Formats: sequence, structure tokens, C-alpha cells
Amino acid sequence: MSSSTPVYKRVLLKVSGEALMGSQGFGIDVAVADRIASDIAEARRMGVEVGVVVGGGNIFRGVAVASKGGDRVTGDHMGMLATVINALALATSLRKLDIDTVVLSAIAMPEICESFSQRQALHHMDQGRVVIFAGGTGNPFFTTDSAGALRAAEIGAQAIFKGTQVDGIYSADPKKDPDATRFERLTHSEVLEKGLAVMDVAAVALARENAIPIIVFSIHEKGGFGQILTGGGLKTIVTDN
Ligand code: UDP
Repeated sequence: MSSSTPVYKRVLLKVSGEALMGSQGFGIDVAVADRIASDIAEARRMGVEVGVVVGGGNIFRGVAVASKGGDRVTGDHMGMLATVINALALATSLRKLDIDTVVLSAIAMPEICESFSQRQALHHMDQGRVVIFAGGTGNPFFTTDSAGALRAAEIGAQAIFKGTQVDGIYSADPKKDPDATRFERLTHSEVLEKGLAVMDVAAVALARENAIPIIVFSIHEKGGFGQILTGGGLKTIVTDN
């Protein structure tokens, strides 16, 4: 059932780096960043408070360094810096729409953006700003999915919205297997037991521990975020309730 009234007050949206690159093989497609920003702006107009964790995979992943014999920790530092580039791009797209936006980085770089603290994050959200969390968790060997679950817990988000390339969690890759079916509802434990590749294990376990539902939907569907915030749209809900 869907109406125009949102069923959520505060959410955490996870946008992967790959989502921002659109059909390009690398980097940021500004038109795509603008479109995702317009969906976030719509959520703000509905009165929903939105925190955003951005990934960095469109620019750099630490494993790429490690797989070529480099130092994984340095590679992860590079990956975390990539998320800051994406956060600045998304903030620019939001500000073009007059959406009050702040970037908080887990790695201090005061000339560029504010440093993350839970107190500052809550302050900005209470002021009605969109808060973009950059720099992942600030630690190597983690992912921005884990940062998504962590920040969701810290800001008291009612749900993690994981925007992906497809409109939910499928039994197999729907782009390769025509018999793949979309799950309507799963528990966190089922996601872990079935090894469903939607978020990494640490992220799902953290969400389970804090009883935060994960809603998986297509980030490429214009207006899709708004639809799901009002209870409609195609998605998979991961919840233990
Ligand atoms: N990263 C990290 N710690 C974190 C978050 C990210 O070291 O807490 C690094 C890691 O190298 C990762 C890269 O940043 O590969 C980009 O993040 P991620 O792969 O999660 O981005 P996405 O897949 O969402 O684009």
C-alpha cells in the first residue's frame, strides 16, 4: 500500500560508488549524481531526514592494490579518499537543488569538510540538513556497507536503504538467470545463511544486532526512493520483525 505520507522519519541511504559512475566505466557521471540528488531532495520535501553513506568503488578499491602485491592498508586509505571525492560530488548536486547539505568525513581534512562525530551528525540532522558521511568507517579492512550500518546505528536511523543496480535481493543474479526471483522479505540471518551478496557480512551482522531493517531497492529508478519511503515500490525488506 502506498500514500504520499512517508512511513520513515530518519533513514540512512547507502549509495555505492558504482551507482555514481552511471554507464561510464569509471568516475562520476554528473547527470547521475544530479538524479540521485533529486531523489534525496524529494525525500527531504516529504520531511524525511536523510543521512547518506557514499562508496568509492567507481574510483578505487583497496583490494585492487593488494591483488597486485601492494599494501592493503594503503590501498584502503586510497579507497576511503575516493569516497570523499564522491561525497563532494553528491553534495554539489544537492546544493544545486538548494538542499542544505554537509559532508562529515571519518578522516579529518578540515580544509575540505567537517570531521565526523556522532554529536555533529545529530546536530546537522536536527537542523534539517542532509548529512553525507565520507571516508567510510575511517578504518582499513572495512567497507562502506559497514559504514552504512554503523552510521545508521549512530544516528538512530529507522532503516538502511541500500540502493543497488536491481530492485531487490534475488535468488540468483537476475541479469544472468531468467528464473531468478525477487525475495519480498528476508531476515538478517537468512541473508547471512544463504550467503546473499547484498551487503557484506559485517554490515548485515551490525544491522541485525541493532535491529535495523535493510531495504534493498534500485537506485536507478527515478522517484524510486520516494516511492519506497511511502511504502510502495519494488524492494526487498530485510527485517527480523
Ligand atoms: N574502505 C575502507 N574502509 C571503510 C570503507 C571503505 O578501507 O570503512 C575502502 C576500501 O578499500 C573500499 C573502498 O574504500 O574498497 C571503497 O569503498 P567500497 O568498496 O565500500 O565502495 P562501494 O562498493 O560502495 O562503491
